[in-house]
Amino acid sequence: MPPISFPDILETSQPADTVRWAADQFGTENLVVTASFEDAVLVHVAATAVPGIAIVLLDTQYLFAETKWFADELTKRLDLNLRIVNPLPHIQPDNLWQSDVNACCNVRKVEPLDRSLQGKQAWVTGVRRADGPTRANTPTASYDIGRNIVKLNPLAAFSDDDMALYAHLHDLPANPLTERGYPSIGCWPCTRPVAPGEDKRGGRWAGSPKTECGLHG
Ligand code: SF4
Repeated sequence: MPPISFPDILETSQPADTVRWAADQFGTENLVVTASFEDAVLVHVAATAVPGIAIVLLDTQYLFAETKWFADELTKRLDLNLRIVNPLPHIQPDNLWQSDVNACCNVRKVEPLDRSLQGKQAWVTGVRRADGPTRANTPTASYDIGRNIVKLNPLAAFSDDDMALYAHLHDLPANPLTERGYPSIGCWPCTRPVAPGEDKRGGRWAGSPKTECGLHG
């Protein structure tokens, strides 16, 4: 797919309008949402804007039990078209996270993501500028040259307060880990709770220079 230009209106669109724009532009069957199930907002936005839209959860073999439970609950409650994508069959739990987090993320996140995006034209994510300094310049729409796909971040401009208000207005539940001090939730070996006021993603790969798993940078 050649790079395309995006209408300026996307930068100020409501999240659901961004997802609807993508469905109109590319066709629902050519869209995929990846969700970490850290919260319910992205999947609610996507599934109410475009019912039946494909939603992918990358099961790294090291997800928190709470996250798996939360994904099940939301799938039933919101009638999500959820697809759980696993690492390739030869990748078995191996404690690689203890010795090489980049290699571990590559086989458990990056390769499964790339496989999930094959044949699709647009990828919808929950990345927000408020996630932290490394995501402060996140656009609503961009072209991922490496993956040859349009990348949409409909929640890019949402603050933490916007997320809380949206969840409140739509009576959405929270991942049980949120109230236990986990504002950012990844795999259990690489995520710790953070103190009030600490960088939200400060509990991810704490003590390591790694800040992203390779999906978004
Ligand atoms: Fe492995 Fe940790 Fe990356 Fe999960 S976040 S894939 S456990 S290195």
